[in-house]
Amino acid sequence: KEFRNNVKPNWCPGCGDFSIQAAIQRAAANVGLEPEDVAVISGIGCSGRISGYIHAYGFHGIHGRALPIAQGVKLANRELTVIASGGDGDGFAIGMGHTVHAIRRNLNITYIVMDNQIYGLTKGQTSPRSGEGFKTKSTPQGSIESTLSPLEIAMSAGATFVAQSFSSDLKGLTSLIEQGIQHDGFSLINVFSPCVTFNKVNTYDWFKENIVKLEDFPDYDPANRMMAMNKIMETEGMLTGLIYQDKSRRSYENHIPGFKDQALAKQNLDMTKEEFNQLVAEFK
Ligand code: SF4
Repeated sequence: KEFRNNVKPNWCPGCGDFSIQAAIQRAAANVGLEPEDVAVISGIGCSGRISGYIHAYGFHGIHGRALPIAQGVKLANRELTVIASGGDGDGFAIGMGHTVHAIRRNLNITYIVMDNQIYGLTKGQTSPRSGEGFKTKSTPQGSIESTLSPLEIAMSAGATFVAQSFSSDLKGLTSLIEQGIQHDGFSLINVFSPCVTFNKVNTYDWFKENIVKLEDFPDYDPANRMMAMNKIMETEGMLTGLIYQDKSRRSYENHIPGFKDQALAKQNLDMTKEEFNQLVAEFK
């Protein structure tokens, strides 16, 4: 159950992404998985490097396309635990179309967004998660666009599992990832992950001052959709914890007759080697 490999991450010292990597590794081990049971699929950005830093199957995809690849992996081999990961620019800008439809499709995938509210890899431009008035190289007068709320969008798209965490809360984040892996369906876990190099506004201290913890509301019920929507809007999306979970809706895979019996990747093709080669040749 060793999910660490010998690759040294080249994230900046203090980057929030380190904790997310550690939380994924701990959560996978805590739920009893082995490295060969797990596939980590990532997009492009500083966060996209994570698929190379975890000892498991990994695929570093292209920008905004972690989810199509992750869904393909899951459909081909449903025995794998598929974890998709990427930044807020990756998932909520170029990849937003995929994110919304993956949510409503509800394949059994855990999607972890490393939300630093800026583009880090390209050295600091405004992302869809940047606040109004946020000054960067691409918005020197301050951003004039409204800030995208991934939690509201996920709820509107019919999400069955919505959670949010902070990279400083390793214990809480690990627990949410464990719950996401065990959820039968698509789980979105948005994680505030400060970019210490380019985002001087949304810092660790800023998050500590602004985060609202759901654990402080003992009557909160994550099964109550209306309560979840209200709380997201009341807190302007700054709440952390398990925000919503619908355990009644079956995952996509469970609607396909016979699909759950055996992974596609392991099914007998029922053709000769010659027939297989002919089939492959048609796609060349
Ligand atoms: Fe992390 Fe920002 Fe450095 Fe990228 S640029 S590794 S997001 S601190």
